[in-house]
Amino acid sequence: MNFDIQKIRSDFPILNQTIYGKPLVYMDNAATSQKPEILIDFLKSFYTKDNSNIHRGVHMLSQQVTEQYENARGKVREFINAKNKNEIIFTSGATGSINLLAFSLGEKFIKKGDEIIISQMEHHANIVPWQLMCERKQARLVILSITENGELETDKLESLIKDKTKIISIVHVSNMLGTINNIKEISAIAKKHNLIMAADGAQAVQHGKVDVQELGVDFYAFSGHKVFGPLGIGVLYGREQLLEELPPYQGGGDMVDRVTFEKTTFNELPFKFEAGTTNYIGAIGLGLVLDYLNSIGIDTIISYEKELMQYGQEKLMNIDGLTMYGKVKNKIPVFSFLLNNIHPYDAGMILDKMGIAVRTGTHCTQPLMQKYGIDGTIRASLTFYNTKEEIDILEKALRKVMEMFG
Ligand code: PMP
Repeated sequence: MNFDIQKIRSDFPILNQTIYGKPLVYMDNAATSQKPEILIDFLKSFYTKDNSNIHRGVHMLSQQVTEQYENARGKVREFINAKNKNEIIFTSGATGSINLLAFSLGEKFIKKGDEIIISQMEHHANIVPWQLMCERKQARLVILSITENGELETDKLESLIKDKTKIISIVHVSNMLGTINNIKEISAIAKKHNLIMAADGAQAVQHGKVDVQELGVDFYAFSGHKVFGPLGIGVLYGREQLLEELPPYQGGGDMVDRVTFEKTTFNELPFKFEAGTTNYIGAIGLGLVLDYLNSIGIDTIISYEKELMQYGQEKLMNIDGLTMYGKVKNKIPVFSFLLNNIHPYDAGMILDKMGIAVRTGTHCTQPLMQKYGIDGTIRASLTFYNTKEEIDILEKALRKVMEMFG
């Protein structure tokens, strides 16, 4: 494989440091990813010489930034293969995208007694916004269950669909189990029953090829900071015809056409959903990082990460007393596990002293913890700048933790 891991790692300056005197092993990428130097340089240079608010300026700086912002929208369109630039709405993140979606879909389509299907492996970001909407509209959430191994029970989906079902919203890749869900199959079922289909792609875009048209989704959400981009920027993809029908989520500048005290008419897509000054620097930075990912090649990333996943899964499953959550074959290199009855927090503290950054707790998936009857896990989440050597370091460290706790 044409993949120079040392060159890749040197693109991310933060990786090159020691923690408590040990080389940093950063395995908390599902929480947030690190940033390539090109992005860090861009942010400094942008604020040094380019900054100006978009869309409303006749002056040169404003026009240049507006052009860069709209170019970034084009890069996102291309990256996820949306049909049209108007289908790309910049938000504050995946959470912002799903809140927008739940609100506007709720206003337009949901009546008392209607049902929305989500799954047992959702992140809170794909539960709570729908729950809030359900409370407002007196609608109901219906839950698609998963197997012990961490796989959606898609064969049960059709039995959950009734006349009152309006929306299905499912996580593309689970942040706790690593499972890659078959969104294409679920979208086809949604389409067959005339339902709106949304997917939470917060853990998917950075690990695989996302083609919203091929997936057949109506809506797709993700965050910039998890794909090596800046914080505070996210994307909501929506099928143009549906976005046209939806009412705006927030009101303010830029999202309007004409405002009088009696009545306001709204701007065209995508601006109808981008109220106020957007995070234009975040959007431009995201575009830059998508270029960077394209320069490595998504297929190269997929095959390298597959090797990491297989290597890691094998190594960790070999540790006596380790229970792995998420045992399907088709997963990203995210490992959630428990070590005997050692509290994840205690293990995490010790790993930290060895320079290893993992996350411990419920990973914003409390209903999933309830399914397994546990309070939390240790989660090591890897990406394309991690290495097999780092997995060896983790394995050794976990064995040490086990020893320390007898
Ligand atoms: N969905 C999933 C699957 C996630 O992993 C996360 C972040 N952990 C989110 C949604 C929310 O992303 P953000 O906090 O960036 O809005």
